[in-house]
Amino acid sequence: MALLQISEPGQSPDPHQRRVAVGIDLGTTHSLVAAVRHGVAECLPDEQGRPILPSVVRYLPPEAGGAGRQIGFDALAAQVTDPANTLSSIKRLMGRKRADVVQVDQLPYTVLDRPGMATVQTVAGEKTPVEVSAEILATLRFRAEDTFDNELFGAVITVPAYFDDAQRQATKDAAKLAGIPVLRLINEPTAAAIAYGLDNASEGVYAVYDLGGGTFDISILRLTQGVFEVVSTGGDSALGGDDYDRALLTWVLTQTGQTELLNTASATDRARLLYTARQVKESISTLATDSEFIAFNAMLESGEVSFDVKLSDFTDATQALTARTMVAVRKAMRDAGLAKDDIKGVVLVGGSTRMPVVRQAVEAFFGQPPLLNLNPDEVVALGAAIQANQLAGNNPDGDLLLLDVIPLSLGIETMGGLVERIVPRNSTIPTALAQDFTTYKDGQTALALHVLQGERDLVADCRSLARFELRGIPPMAAGAARIRVTFTIDADGLLSVSAKEQGTGVEARIDVKPSYGLSDEQIATMLQESFTTAQADMKARALVEARVDADRMVEATLSALRADSDLLSADEQTAVHALMDTVRRVATGSEDAADIEAATQALAKGTEAFAAMRMNRGISRALAGTRIDAF
Ligand code: ADP
Ligand code: MG
Repeated sequence: MALLQISEPGQSPDPHQRRVAVGIDLGTTHSLVAAVRHGVAECLPDEQGRPILPSVVRYLPPEAGGAGRQIGFDALAAQVTDPANTLSSIKRLMGRKRADVVQVDQLPYTVLDRPGMATVQTVAGEKTPVEVSAEILATLRFRAEDTFDNELFGAVITVPAYFDDAQRQATKDAAKLAGIPVLRLINEPTAAAIAYGLDNASEGVYAVYDLGGGTFDISILRLTQGVFEVVSTGGDSALGGDDYDRALLTWVLTQTGQTELLNTASATDRARLLYTARQVKESISTLATDSEFIAFNAMLESGEVSFDVKLSDFTDATQALTARTMVAVRKAMRDAGLAKDDIKGVVLVGGSTRMPVVRQAVEAFFGQPPLLNLNPDEVVALGAAIQANQLAGNNPDGDLLLLDVIPLSLGIETMGGLVERIVPRNSTIPTALAQDFTTYKDGQTALALHVLQGERDLVADCRSLARFELRGIPPMAAGAARIRVTFTIDADGLLSVSAKEQGTGVEARIDVKPSYGLSDEQIATMLQESFTTAQADMKARALVEARVDADRMVEATLSALRADSDLLSADEQTAVHALMDTVRRVATGSEDAADIEAATQALAKGTEAFAAMRMNRGISRALAGTRIDAF
């Protein structure tokens, strides 16, 4: 240890001074910022001790002077008096065209149709969703910088798992506008899982149930080697806590015989009723039994609404909504090909999962209590903070996650010497991505896998990284086997590829170091080539695909003839053979994809009747079988 620490003026005296890295949950209804302090992640409150920032920005007329806008709670308060200039739920517009926004007409402000992204008309002019989001992000950035009295090093910002490229890019642009260096965007369900430390838990499948203010998301995640892969997502972009407010309000007005208010209430009265409904709903979450109640009490311009609400009343009024979320859960499970027993743990996210009715429904469905010791509206921000802390190199354990991207796409060879891209270029690592493949021939019991790197469509133009084989696939008809190929890249850029036949579980894997030995210049050259040759590649790809289809059609026809040629007369058989010969000849002789496709089509058409006869035979055999069994 040095006796004296000498530092130059302006330089940090402590070489290990921590970088301020935060996690930001940029939510539809609420946003939060969190950071790891003293080893634990916590949400940073504002000056009044409130961790939550309503995702609302109100624009003031330019002549009003001052800052010209209000953000958060101040803006929220104006929602009743100035709905047209008070922008809430702006996340629904991010990276979207007007036509793509669900229930756009129900938003209280005017959304304009613009090329690229919809915008909003306000008294202060037209605002893009990116600008509005930037206001929210900047507010959180200042909060973090004030808290730590230091400049922000960077942030991990969360986005819904289903966000596409345009939506993610819009989020990054908003961060840039707010002066926030983005360490990484991560998926909200992944952040929630990280907050619960599931990335250190045992490998397996986890479900994340997120019921927020206006949206419901269910995500099924698979944890492999510390990396989460999104297996399936689902939900309802027009179902959230707001709907519970409306359902409760409708129920109360029915009880008091004031349902006409649903249509006749002024905008202000309507906002007041909904505000009251939300307050009552949130208080009801604290009730344990039916012996207590919460008073619904709204003073309106046009009178008063007053009724005492019990827990069971609320349950009845909102049952249909909770049931709708469970329908989406069931569908996501089906899409993932999973049963309830496959789920290792369930994470609850979103303020609306505070409702006991929701917790009970989730527990009943999965047959296990969900994880809920963290605050459900903070858990996404907390997970993002943990990730940010690691990315900034603040983790004292030293297992520093490198912030890195894949310089060139990774994929595998498919029939005909084509490359199927699995991990696109510029994907951040660590990552895991999977795709399903199937067998090409009847009875095929092994599959050769060839791992490739590059942007070109043909194997010959890409760099070969590794080859391996999956053996022991049970003999099945072509196309019946389901082989999941998973590319996993860890934080060090180490790639491992696995192939698993889903039915039997037979599996093979290989480890590769993908960028090993490639200099920056080589990468640049490969990229340059892919841009200049894209046109030629597309043609080559079409040709190869046409040939593969032709081959497949001939193969299928041969196999049908082997089984059921007795259904055809000698002449008919000759005709089918002639069509097959043409396909073979054109497929090998012609360089034009269209010619080959035409010949394949002709064969398909010429064997339609044969296919129908085979189907009928199959059905009568099956029926015959039943009858014998029945006797
Ligand atoms: P988002 O992810 O859409 O920004 P949040 O996760 O912050 O939303 O959830 C906001 C929703 O949670 C609102 O509808 C709010 O009424 C609801 N909520 C918050 N606290 C409670 C509570 N105690 N009981 C019921 N609902 C609640
Ligand atoms: Mg949320």
